[in-house]
Amino acid sequence: MLFLKSLFFLLVSFTSAVMASENRQHSSHEHGVGQLDVAQESSEFQIALTSPAVNIFGFEHAPHDQEDHKMVEKKLAELEKGEVLFVFPEGANCRLKDVHVATSWADHENTKTESTEHKQAEREHRAEHEHKEHDEDEHEDHEEDEQTHADVTASWHFACAHPQTVDRIHVKLFERFPQTEHLRVQWTTQNKQGAVELSSTHSVLRF
Ligand SMILES: [Zn+2]
Repeated sequence: MLFLKSLFFLLVSFTSAVMASENRQHSSHEHGVGQLDVAQESSEFQIALTSPAVNIFGFEHAPHDQEDHKMVEKKLAELEKGEVLFVFPEGANCRLKDVHVATSWADHENTKTESTEHKQAEREHRAEHEHKEHDEDEHEDHEEDEQTHADVTASWHFACAHPQTVDRIHVKLFERFPQTEHLRVQWTTQNKQGAVELSSTHSVLRF
């Protein structure tokens, strides 16, 4: 029985690993679809979004007039409101500690963070990521690619007084950004992990 149980867990971990790697392969730019990673580390939750810009702003060209810039500023400000976008169980008493949002257009980047160490780590991570992307793209037509597609990345860091009571998170991105149709979610908590697809009609992430 114990053996069967271990085998089951092994199978579950293996399946999750396969799903995770499939998700990563499919997480490349697909309009209407975003990738959400949720990770618990003791009392803290890190949530990260990677999304085509069209899901957030309704367009992907670099903002070129005042109307575009206004829209981008407005939507980035909405993205920063992590406590509105992710609703934790009330008793868990979770607070947003810092948030970072960025677009692949270089001139639109907002950082609100209390930890400079965290900031530095993110900068390094981003530099590394950009370097990798550059390597992968080097045979493609760069200029055309940059004109037609853009991405948004956002990360939110929550700290909870009673993390053990967090059995779900209501994801409200679909209400705020209706062009986001699906989110491919990968999550890990202290003792569980999984992958799930969320949508406007199925927007509660359950652990
Ligand atoms: Zn695109």
